Amino acid sequence: MQEARRLRDGLERDAPATHFIPHFFTKPHARQYILGLAVFGLLPLAAADLKIAVLHPLLGDLAREIGGDQVEVVDLIGPNGDPHHFEPRPEDLRKAEGASLYLVAGMGLEGYLPKLRSVIAEKAELVEVGATLPALEEPDDGHGHGHGVDPHWWHSIDLFRRATGIVAAALEAKSPENAALFHKNAATYRTKLDELEKWARREIARIPRDRRHLATTHAAFNYLCRDFGFVPHPVQGLNREQMPDPRELAKLVADLKANHVAAIFPETESNPKILNTLTNDTGIKLGKPLIADGTGGLSYLEMVRHNVEAIVKGLE
Ligand SMILES: [Zn+2]
Repeated sequence: MQEARRLRDGLERDAPATHFIPHFFTKPHARQYILGLAVFGLLPLAAADLKIAVLHPLLGDLAREIGGDQVEVVDLIGPNGDPHHFEPRPEDLRKAEGASLYLVAGMGLEGYLPKLRSVIAEKAELVEVGATLPALEEPDDGHGHGHGVDPHWWHSIDLFRRATGIVAAALEAKSPENAALFHKNAATYRTKLDELEKWARREIARIPRDRRHLATTHAAFNYLCRDFGFVPHPVQGLNREQMPDPRELAKLVADLKANHVAAIFPETESNPKILNTLTNDTGIKLGKPLIADGTGGLSYLEMVRHNVEAIVKGLE
């Protein structure tokens, strides 16, 4: 593979010399070499075998980890976009032209899914990666609301590890000739997730049990709270439009005080004024911003490290 890449790079670098390739081919050794690479499938005919589109930057990261050079990934939302809300524009869909697979997080995160489905129609397959993962129920807000599921499954390292298998299978279905590569890359990535999970457990162990209260902007961290024994105290609901009414706010303030919550964490994506009101009213400090919905331009591994480090620093 490296040989093939070096060769390709060499060809590209020398491309202006138009006589180069015919000249190269006239050398018998070179011809045999190229033939050998082609026979063993090492000389890629195109840059990537498979083009896919992702509607969550973390799925883009995962698809690149598994697909390597064989998969071209078009990230339609970008690292700082809001995956709760996205209107596929014609230029977005043009970028994704030729994609045979769309990956979305699922679990109801993408309210625009019916529209997207009708646009891509028969042209590509759409896989909801979270569809078969065990979902947390949306907590009841005390008004009888709370009938959906919580879509922020990627904050569970275990669920992201399971998603690795789902994405590998989706890629394999579209490009069976690369199955061995996808399996190998998925196994390597799962090992990295195992290490990440062990590291996160060690770090979080530094926070005493009675201080594991996680006050955040919107309710994006229920899976992390479940996995690591935190009580969640979100200011907003499962999306950022849901603001607490005065009664809910009073209850939140009382809960934070009663539990001696050490910090309230804003988000890299949003820091509503209400957080400043809360910190002023309660004297609780503002923590380092957490990455809730996107990646902040980081990989999944870096995103988890960022959040765990911020939480430990704020609460230990
Ligand atoms: Zn969210």
